[in-house]
Amino acid sequence: MEYFLTEEQQMIVDTAREITNEKIIPVRAELDENNQFPREILEDIAKADLFSIFVPEEYGGFGGGCFDIALAMEELSRGCVGVATSFAASALGIFPVLIAGSEELKEQYLPSIASGERWAAFGLTEANAGSDASGIQTTAVLDGDEWVLNGTKQWITNGGEAEIYTIVALTDPQKGARGASIFVVEDGDPGFSYGKKEDKMGIRSSATRELILKDCRIPKNRLVGRKGTGFITVMKTLDISRPGIAALGIGLAQAALDEAVVYSKQRVQFGKPIVSFQAVQHMLADMAIQLEAGRALVYAAARHIDNNPKNMSKASSMCKVFATDMAMKVTTDAVQVLGGYGYMKEYPVEKMMRDAKILQIYEGTNQIQRNVVGQELNKEYS
Ligand SMILES: Cc1cc2nc3c(=O)[nH]c(=O)nc-3n(C[C@H](O)[C@H](O)[C@H](O)COP(=O)(O)OP(=O)(O)OC[C@H]3O[C@@H](n4cnc5c(N)ncnc54)[C@H](O)[C@@H]3O)c2cc1C
Repeated sequence: MEYFLTEEQQMIVDTAREITNEKIIPVRAELDENNQFPREILEDIAKADLFSIFVPEEYGGFGGGCFDIALAMEELSRGCVGVATSFAASALGIFPVLIAGSEELKEQYLPSIASGERWAAFGLTEANAGSDASGIQTTAVLDGDEWVLNGTKQWITNGGEAEIYTIVALTDPQKGARGASIFVVEDGDPGFSYGKKEDKMGIRSSATRELILKDCRIPKNRLVGRKGTGFITVMKTLDISRPGIAALGIGLAQAALDEAVVYSKQRVQFGKPIVSFQAVQHMLADMAIQLEAGRALVYAAARHIDNNPKNMSKASSMCKVFATDMAMKVTTDAVQVLGGYGYMKEYPVEKMMRDAKILQIYEGTNQIQRNVVGQELNKEYS
């Protein structure tokens, strides 16, 4: 379907598509096999200016929005969700500064993010605080002109590879969720180190690592926004970021559908290409229908959010659930269309199916997103 993109948006798609076809697809199996972080590809993405998409022009960026970045993410994930996740996590990591940071912090960090010279990461999750993020135990205490942070963040994408980390910590532990604040911690700050690097089912080229803060001292001005407003900023950050994750599901499902259609036309059984069997055709048709419905919803939600409505959560959660559940189904069906060959590593669909699973889990599980939609409906109809 035609979505009537602007010239600039088409340019984003074309640029990301070129990188995907030339740099990502040829090496994705090797990156996956070796658990290898795609540093060189991210440098190519930086050279192509894609890290600048969402950064305002006054800080050296393109000044685009949620929809523009979703277009880039969709194309990159067509090649590899691990690479696209590393790209997406940098945006997620710097959104708190963009949303709530002081002018000083914006000037300090946004230009180097726009140029791709430095990457970011977002540190919220802890061993005992996943869906219930209000259970975090990391603390930040002001000592003279410095904040002192203590705690351990778990499963942080780009951990150990990024230079800039936004960390959510309790500044008033008695106040629970209302006592959280966000801080910028930099690679090399005293007391900041990296722990275990995870070995994962999918998105194996992305780095997922522990962040250890042990009497980590940072300057006072690295507090993002006002003290105690951390969770409000976290919620806004995730609302803006989730359509990007949904877009990863769209690119991935597109790649799986492409593989399935091509294969079904080549594979001959009972003397005919398997695409001539209606059972296979219907499976492909359902994959295409679900994919296009997902794409339309993601584009609509991202455009809705770019127009800055007061309540973005419902649109953001809806598109994340639909597109990522769809990606799981479509990649699973792609393996089915390829039969036994689909299960083998010589075809890319088994990796696609493994990569799809994380989309239903990170940035808030799909159960939690359904809770959000349900709560919003409850409010609307009260
Ligand atoms: C590869 C990877 C990368 C990640 N990257 C980052 C990152 O960069 N930064 C970061 O901060 N975090 C990151 N995370 C953490 C991720 O956001 C959490 O894993 C996710 O929010 C879920 O938390 P949990 O895994 O602790 O699951 P839990 O919260 O323990 O949930 C377990 C199950 O219970 C369900 N459940 C829990 N509560 C409810 C409820 N109220 N209603 C219905 N169902 C419920 C969940 O949906 C899930 O199915 C990453 C995780 C992974 C695996």
